[in-house]
Amino acid sequence: MSTLRFQALKETASRQLVEVEELDRKSVIFGSNVFNDKAMRQFLTPEAYKAVTNAVKHGTKIDRKLADYIAMGMKEWALSKGVTHYTHWFQPLTGATAEKHDAFFETAPDGSDPVEKFDGGQLVQQEPDASSFPNGGIRNTFEARGYTAWDPTSPAFIFGTTLCVPTVFVSYTGEALDYKTPLLRALAAVDTAATDVCRYFDKNVKKVTATLGWEQEYFLIDSSLANSRPDITLTGRTLLGHTSAKGQQLDDHYFGSIPTRVLNYMRDLENECMLLGIPVKTRHNEVAPNQFELAPIFEEANLAVDHNSLLMDVMGKIAERHYFKVLLHEKPFKGVNGSGKHNNWSLATDTGVNLLGPGKTPMSNLQFLTFFINTIKAVQDNEELMRAAIATASNDHRLGANEAPPAIISVFIGEQLTKVLQELEGVSSGKLSPKEKTDLKLNVVGKIPDVLLDNTDRNRTSPFAFTGNKFEFRAVGSTANCANAMTIVNAIVAKQLKDFKKEVDALIADKGMKKDDAVFNVLREYIKETKAILFEGDGYSEEWEQEAAKRGLSNNKTTPKALKAKVSEKTLALFEDLKIMNHVEMEARYEIELEEYAKKIQIEGRVLGDIARNHVVPTAIRYQNILIENVKGLKDIFGKDHETVGRQQIKLIKEISEHIAGINMKVEAMTEERKKANELETGEEMAIAYCDNVKPYFDTIRNHCDKLELLVDDEIWTLTKYRELLFTK
Ligand code: ADP
Ligand code: MG
Repeated sequence: MSTLRFQALKETASRQLVEVEELDRKSVIFGSNVFNDKAMRQFLTPEAYKAVTNAVKHGTKIDRKLADYIAMGMKEWALSKGVTHYTHWFQPLTGATAEKHDAFFETAPDGSDPVEKFDGGQLVQQEPDASSFPNGGIRNTFEARGYTAWDPTSPAFIFGTTLCVPTVFVSYTGEALDYKTPLLRALAAVDTAATDVCRYFDKNVKKVTATLGWEQEYFLIDSSLANSRPDITLTGRTLLGHTSAKGQQLDDHYFGSIPTRVLNYMRDLENECMLLGIPVKTRHNEVAPNQFELAPIFEEANLAVDHNSLLMDVMGKIAERHYFKVLLHEKPFKGVNGSGKHNNWSLATDTGVNLLGPGKTPMSNLQFLTFFINTIKAVQDNEELMRAAIATASNDHRLGANEAPPAIISVFIGEQLTKVLQELEGVSSGKLSPKEKTDLKLNVVGKIPDVLLDNTDRNRTSPFAFTGNKFEFRAVGSTANCANAMTIVNAIVAKQLKDFKKEVDALIADKGMKKDDAVFNVLREYIKETKAILFEGDGYSEEWEQEAAKRGLSNNKTTPKALKAKVSEKTLALFEDLKIMNHVEMEARYEIELEEYAKKIQIEGRVLGDIARNHVVPTAIRYQNILIENVKGLKDIFGKDHETVGRQQIKLIKEISEHIAGINMKVEAMTEERKKANELETGEEMAIAYCDNVKPYFDTIRNHCDKLELLVDDEIWTLTKYRELLFTK
């Protein structure tokens, strides 16, 4: 009984609630650890303040002298809050955020003149020894080094006693080595393209920003219980474990009352988020036991991405205080729902208009329809790339597993808007008659606000759903950096809007059409061309898979297959044309993602083999020996009759032996496949081998182990069980 499992259960049972410090009202504390507008006004000279705001609004460069002044103000602000260190905070392609802390403190070489120092050079550029971040072969350690460069559009913040300066991470030859660089370029591309299109409708628009409101799902497990499971510790998920007799069948967790211990954690986390300027708003229980969700108010996409990355980090740190472990993995437990991260996305103008929201006049509704239909067209033309945007080893457990949006990308728009599109499809070719135009404006376009108001139908199975005033990309994984999905969505929409503008301009110039006639004409053709991607039915169903195949939609169930779309000629051209990434950067990313995939499966394979052989098999043998002793005793008493009296025990002994043999055989075979996979030349071959030849063993090995869990005496089973992980509060 001295196993980790029982010790962990005991610790969990004796947990005391951790008190959460009461802070002032949220509206008062919000952003107080952020170098925001208020702090900048207080700590910067008017020139320095203007330099930052101009950089944010217009992308203007900040010269070195002003950077010195900005750094000085930032340092004074940070010191006033007890900060001792600073770091460039960036998002390398590892998925985690990176930071290297340096003290402000400096002295002269002889130890004299101690002082706190932070100048423009240190603010603007750093050179982390970054040779071991993934770079897909771009950055040969001996040739060019990478550097981080300040991103003034995302404000610096304080976490603990460190000033964090959000930065991009690029090689000296200019290639992006992080998530933020391509995101910023995609956001610039969509800004230009969308602004140009907006100007058909409103000449006052000068800038369009993409907005993102993410929703983060997660599991909270007692830290002792989580630490008692080597698979959770090393892979973030359970690789085995028999499902609990009670799971989520009773639907009694979703939106239920939040357990006090969890609520304390959430309050603590929300306080920290408030200080960091992350505008968190919603919290609730999710479908699976011990699963929860947190969502903020939406923000400009770059800031929202930073905030989500920061949040994932902060979640883990606050959890430690409450003796919890946060599981962000997409599928930590078999048999209950996994976690996702819905990305609510829209476009907003600097005149305050949500371009995917209904307007008040027919003209603004035509603008809405333009952006709405162009988005659908962008998805239709790049559905495979959208699938690639969310492809990871862990997200594969959700997509295509009949519980989360499928691996097939489709767009849900609801019955009402489907009708609107049908009516628009009937618009005459060429110039519209005055009557037709009036009719359209009054009865179709003009009715849109009402239509959207009662557009309450929601389809939970759609990977990309229109929800009244935004699209919701639901297939994004819970561990993902949102930048990946957001770069691709904004890139394909930017490209589509550029094409749209070209077509409309051509109709105006060549056919002498009026602007709105031209817009109607192009949109009508798009409606005809995008029928395949629109789907209103059950995305989890078998019929949809068949139907989607008929429609020619891709259904890439595994990451190695899905990722290919990232390096197709079409994608490379798209990214190159928009100057988001060149083919070297794209191919490097493809390599990195394949490698990450192979490594993840490799680690899971090793951990599973280890647990199966070193935990499960010895425990099973121990129990089998108890049974053998028992049968021997029965023989002493009953002689030959012991075979009848001990029939069940003898059967169990045999069954246990079969499972043990099964485990040993499959673990050996899996190890052989791993060896073969490791010898392959390219990342692509390796990823495919891990996917097709190694991963399939996981289920069989797990099955044997889970069967043994049911057979073996609970008292000697060493691995913490599902019911304990999921139902211990
Ligand atoms: P629900 O979808 O749960 O009914 P809401 O529609 O209010 O709730 O919003 C869900 C999420 O969508 C929230 O995280 C919110 O911040 C985000 N959201 C709302 N409007 C926009 C928008 N224009 N752009 C991006 N995200 C948005
Ligand atoms: Mg949602």
